[in-house]
Amino acid sequence: MNSQVDEQYFVDYEDLEIHELMLKDRPRQEAYHNAILKNKQLFKDKVILDVGAGTGILSAFCAKAGAKRVYAVEASNLAKLALNVIEENGLSEVVKVIHSRVEDFSLPDDEKVDIIVSEWMGFYLLHEGMLDSVIFARNKFLKDGGLMFPTSATLYVAPCSVPSRYQYWDNVDGIKMNTFGEMLRNVKSHKPEITQIDADCLLHEGTVVSWFNLETVTLEELDNINLQEVVAIQKSGNHQGFCLWFDCGFPSSSGKFEDMTIFSTSPKAPETHWKQCIIVLPPNACEAMEENTPIAFKLSMQRNPNDVRKYNLEMEMLDSDDVEHPLPCNCFMTKC
Ligand code: SAH
Repeated sequence: MNSQVDEQYFVDYEDLEIHELMLKDRPRQEAYHNAILKNKQLFKDKVILDVGAGTGILSAFCAKAGAKRVYAVEASNLAKLALNVIEENGLSEVVKVIHSRVEDFSLPDDEKVDIIVSEWMGFYLLHEGMLDSVIFARNKFLKDGGLMFPTSATLYVAPCSVPSRYQYWDNVDGIKMNTFGEMLRNVKSHKPEITQIDADCLLHEGTVVSWFNLETVTLEELDNINLQEVVAIQKSGNHQGFCLWFDCGFPSSSGKFEDMTIFSTSPKAPETHWKQCIIVLPPNACEAMEENTPIAFKLSMQRNPNDVRKYNLEMEMLDSDDVEHPLPCNCFMTKC
């Protein structure tokens, strides 16, 4: 990685408002709080590594859950603040704050950890490429059979309407602003939009782009993610884009799937600071769609070779008649 680009990445994390946003993101907070504090048995007397500790909040949760030792590793200058947070909470005996990139850090006597906790997710899950550091830490520091918090992550895509880019401009307080709307769309056409859409805008429940098992996922699997799919529209509406969102699952002490904490950034879940990532279609590709119409597309997400913390997202619309349908076929569901 270009070290200057990376240095800037950590400088950006010194902005307290970014941490304010995360600390006030209730669904995020509740997911980590529940996953850790409702599963105290998993943490009791265990050694934990918090990759990218930020303000130290997740390390503090782990200490409160009964951990024997927490290594809170933070590369940015926020590490100093994390130290204060840990002291303020009387947790200094348990939590050791280390100001370092996790890649440059080593544990005393090559010790291994029982659990890795991290909040590494970016827009469309993979933006920021922080998962690379978590994988590095897992390979180097996690005991055999150790746990990852979260332990799985799933990226979804669904066709959707994007009224904020289209219909909004039909009538702005009684004035037609379509010319402006079109110009704006042209200016923004090459950029996905990070915005919260109403669940109503989804024309399909969503299909899995990628499912990652955090215990085994490799760096190579993150370089190039492709999905070719045919989905049948489940709710008629204007097809104007594709919505990407993710969810994460955390281990539970019972080991039962139904006890896992699931954190979702879907339009159907309460809003988070990740919102959703919308790939907006150009006007000539937009279409009013009836229920059951098949939509065929190819999504490719490739790491940007000049900045591995970013991805190039590409969406190609395909002719559904020419595309091999998945089995079982999900087109024309009522007719299959
Ligand atoms: N864990 C905190 C902060 C999450 S934001 C919370 O949940 O509130 C991600 C943090 O990870 C940032 O503070 C960033 O500086 C840090 N980070 C990212 N990559 C890192 C790396 N390779 N080594 C250490 N810290 C890293």
